[in-house]
Amino acid sequence: MDSMSNDQRVIVIGSGPAGAMAAHELIRNGIPVTMLEAGSQFQGGILLRLMGRNFYRRVPPMEHGTRHIASGDPQTDWYFNLAPGGLSNQWTGATPRFAPEDFTEGERLHECYRWAVTYDEMAPYYERTERLMDITADSRDVPNLPAGYAAYQQQIPHDWQQIARHANTHGQGLTTMPLADGPPSLLTRRGTAFNSFTNLVRPLLSSPHFRLISGAHVLKLEWSATKRKVDSVLYYDSVAGTQKRLSADAVVVACGALNSTKLLFDSACADFPEGLGNSEGVLGNYLHDHPREWWIFDMQKPLSLLSPSAYLTRLPYATSQPLLATSWTLGLVGLKDKLRSRIGGKGTVVGVQVFGTMIPSLQHYAKPTDTKKDAYGLPLLDLHIRYDEAVIETMIAARQHLMCLMDEAGYPSTLREIVPQLFPGTSVHYGGTARMHASRKYGVVDTYNRIYDAPNVLVCDASCFTTGAEKNPTLTAMALSARAAEHLAANLKAGR
Ligand SMILES: Cc1cc2nc3c(=O)[nH]c(=O)nc-3n(C[C@H](O)[C@H](O)[C@H](O)COP(=O)(O)OP(=O)(O)OC[C@H]3O[C@@H](n4cnc5c(N)ncnc54)[C@H](O)[C@@H]3O)c2cc1C
Repeated sequence: MDSMSNDQRVIVIGSGPAGAMAAHELIRNGIPVTMLEAGSQFQGGILLRLMGRNFYRRVPPMEHGTRHIASGDPQTDWYFNLAPGGLSNQWTGATPRFAPEDFTEGERLHECYRWAVTYDEMAPYYERTERLMDITADSRDVPNLPAGYAAYQQQIPHDWQQIARHANTHGQGLTTMPLADGPPSLLTRRGTAFNSFTNLVRPLLSSPHFRLISGAHVLKLEWSATKRKVDSVLYYDSVAGTQKRLSADAVVVACGALNSTKLLFDSACADFPEGLGNSEGVLGNYLHDHPREWWIFDMQKPLSLLSPSAYLTRLPYATSQPLLATSWTLGLVGLKDKLRSRIGGKGTVVGVQVFGTMIPSLQHYAKPTDTKKDAYGLPLLDLHIRYDEAVIETMIAARQHLMCLMDEAGYPSTLREIVPQLFPGTSVHYGGTARMHASRKYGVVDTYNRIYDAPNVLVCDASCFTTGAEKNPTLTAMALSARAAEHLAANLKAGR
């Protein structure tokens, strides 16, 4: 094994959106950063945007099914991408903020569901993140969805406003889905307008304080029993074909929710035999995902074709069961309507993606299995998760609710086709397994994402989510990461 001395103060693991945001914020605050990224080569793709619309998009493939076993629902899948930029090579770019209630509503069930951060504390970091992402959105608040900063304004078509008015009577909003779609015209050799590697990490390469080591698969965070902190990181260098060690003052773990959780389990040591950060037995528990469905409905009368997509927000918190909700994303179906939408055409067919929520609990978890190992001889994760009846009922009710809403608004519609996808993993939104809580009894990390057991290690991806609101998670993971990194920078500068 090679040993390297290191004058970098913080190691950031992972160059996906969460890690890239942490590195960006640390460098902005004058803290030297070494980023370790498992992937070696940036994956290509193609994106052509003209007049504010995506004309052609080709994304690279992802891996799935190779790092886990499924002891809950046997269909459970896990998609990941060990490449520079992580899953932002593939993502759609939807960036809704969480609403203030998303941080508190679970408390109605139990104190363990209250986040250790409020919306007001998050708001500046949401905005800081949004300003880096070239988002197209309507910058007006709607019920249950606060507006964010939008580089490009877009409102839903005029004739959809009457559906929006009826949605309002149900306490819901209908608005443009906030999308990190980039500038109106773009031709690029990547599959997504916002890719965390090209948009955030590459610009850092010109900083003398930033170093990227790619092909560096981190195997373990090394705890020093004498210093009472993690003082080094062990990784496999795929170029040299050897293990290497790097020391640092602090470590930001941002490998994607499940890979981060796996790394903490793989970092078990004499002081933390059940995994780093797991002295209270919380690590790996409270796994959650977004149950997801995609279906099509036909309207009896045409409305403007929706491009970009529209977003129907969840039902009001006060009248919903805590932590059970859905959101609806409404968009185009088929090439013909895609082309017709470019010239402002109308149509009668709408595609809907529904994201639901589930109540995180001790019954759903990601834990190492002692039966199977990965390429590095480390245990695979056992994903033990299954959607229960309440979750499925909420998803079915979501179909009916939208049909009723269309009917009330004078656009009677019929459900056509439901693609069966109600098993975990298809939304690629896992979270919760290194959760944030004000008490270590219910949390692996504190309000600034510091592991209670090892406060010089921060976990900065969706694994830190206390609950999983029905909104897409990446913007919130990035904003949390920015907040945690800024706090870490202040502490390091103050010599703490
Ligand atoms: C098709 C698709 C569409 C999506 N659309 C949306 C959307 O519209 N909105 C939304 O909010 N989310 C969306 N998502 C999810 C979104 O992509 C993820 O939430 C987001 O990428 C997570 O960011 P991350 O940085 O936490 O993790 P990742 O993007 O997974 O990045 C993790 C990084 O860590 C690296 N890494 C992992 N393990 C190690 C290790 N041991 N050592 C070193 N490096 C390591 C990986 O190589 C990778 O670079 C979508 C996902 C997919 C697949």
